[in-house]
Amino acid sequence: MINLSDLPFCRAYIIIRAVHTALVIGVPLVLITQDTELRRAVYYFERPIYAICYLLLLTFSLVMYFLACLVNPGYIETPCKTQPMRSKHCEDCKKCVRKYDHHCHWLETCVGERNHRFFWLFLLSISALILWTISITWNAIVYRLEWLYFSA
Ligand SMILES: [Zn+2]
Ligand SMILES: [Zn+2]
Repeated sequence: MINLSDLPFCRAYIIIRAVHTALVIGVPLVLITQDTELRRAVYYFERPIYAICYLLLLTFSLVMYFLACLVNPGYIETPCKTQPMRSKHCEDCKKCVRKYDHHCHWLETCVGERNHRFFWLFLLSISALILWTISITWNAIVYRLEWLYFSA
């Protein structure tokens, strides 16, 4: 019996990181194909500063995500019994981590001493990106409703 998680491309961390990247790139791509302010800003380049800010925020958020994922959170290689102060054992990683914060399943890694700042920058930038993207979607719906209303 083959265990799915034994296949290299079925590992949880690969799937979750691929889904995250696909969402962060896919949702704006869909919005660019529709009649939205993002299309007017990015595709027709009517608002260059708007377009550059949005794309920079998106890139920054992705870079922080992958830094938080890939930077060693501060694993302790010595046996668990001799762990230093403020470290904690992670059951998911099977390792002790310096200044352990939590095991993040959206990153599929621990958040600890060395990736904590990237994790916070990721949270800040992805929150801003989500709010901005919701506002673009909302404005497009309002714009379409107004158009339907006034043309009727
Ligand atoms: Zn341990
Ligand atoms: Zn962990």
